[in-house]
Amino acid sequence: MIAALTRRLLTETQPRLLWKFLYDFGWKGMRAVQKFEKRLERGQFFPAFLFLSVTNNCNLSCQGCWCTPSSPPKQLSLDTMDNIVTSCKLQGSHFFGILGGEPLLHPDVLELFRRHPDAYFLLFTNGLLLTDSIARELNRLGNVSPLISVEGLGPVSDERRGGRSVYERTLSGVEACRKHKLITGVATSLCQSNVADLATERFLREMIARGVHYAWYYLYRPVGPRPTPELALTAEQVLAVRRFIVDIRARLPIAVVDAYWDAQGGALCPAVVGMAHHISPSGDIEPCPPLQFARDNVGDGRNLEQVFADSEFLSRFRREISKTTQGCIILENPALLKRFLEESGASDSSGRGTAFDELARMDVRPSHHLPGEEIPEKHWAYRLAKKFWFFGFGAYG
Ligand code: SF4
Repeated sequence: MIAALTRRLLTETQPRLLWKFLYDFGWKGMRAVQKFEKRLERGQFFPAFLFLSVTNNCNLSCQGCWCTPSSPPKQLSLDTMDNIVTSCKLQGSHFFGILGGEPLLHPDVLELFRRHPDAYFLLFTNGLLLTDSIARELNRLGNVSPLISVEGLGPVSDERRGGRSVYERTLSGVEACRKHKLITGVATSLCQSNVADLATERFLREMIARGVHYAWYYLYRPVGPRPTPELALTAEQVLAVRRFIVDIRARLPIAVVDAYWDAQGGALCPAVVGMAHHISPSGDIEPCPPLQFARDNVGDGRNLEQVFADSEFLSRFRREISKTTQGCIILENPALLKRFLEESGASDSSGRGTAFDELARMDVRPSHHLPGEEIPEKHWAYRLAKKFWFFGFGAYG
């Protein structure tokens, strides 16, 4: 697997892009995790990574998406994004997840990438706006990897995403990335309607043939304005997904990413670990994107280091929720989560004003924490990656 994947990266992309990926993403990412752990040992807190939802504007409306478009759209200003990235770099963190809505709808997102050539950006996009000219510019910059979401094949994709011919249009974005030799990924939230199509060797071989270098599997969370709870997976299906991931990543020349399990197969929650947190389009600092509650905002005049150091809400979240589960508190115990948020004085940062009611209506569901069913990594490279790089870089799961 390693030799074949290495051959792909050496022949399908460019040395300049590969170097930035290995150094600005790989090496600096590992250093960011080490500095994060050193800070914790000193009793200090600043996350290793940040995920920025730069806009709530979107050209799709997916089931289970937490984002709520508004008119005019809410978006982080270029100066705010610039300050956040600069502050993080001072803490040794050079890797950022850029989300939306659809981040390519933000007028200044490319300028942000231009201003920080020494940082690396994971662009979470639905691919519909990933045109030939955008892909060419991303190649010129070299510090961006598009992570294109695929939520089903054909009709399932349209239903999941509230659009028409979405899968085909997404594939055009993938093709533009292949043509411009970008290091490209696909991401999918596995649910009842797509798991049989997307958690398969066939789908991954199709993506390999289309020039995709990594696949990121998420588990569906029934949140947001269109929660569609019947799409959530059962415990048996979650276990089958874990088994599939461990097996397939040892065999195919494509990197398979998850942010749920450590090298021994033990569950973890990136937000509880504190590895990464999320900044909403309004500047609210949330534990993770689907958990739209906050007490801190990047615009409250303090520097970012102080905001994280002082956040009683985030430190309580890490402390209290870790006593309940290693998995996803949103799925496993929404009632306890609601009580915790109310006791913490957290505000609804969803922009809908209904997030507390949504939590109150949520049923208990299985998450990736399945005690006694741990499946360790099979392949040495993933054991190492999980140990040293926290494969998944703390991204929300
Ligand atoms: S979605 Fe759940 S598991 Fe993932 S970071 Fe948020 S709380 Fe943790």
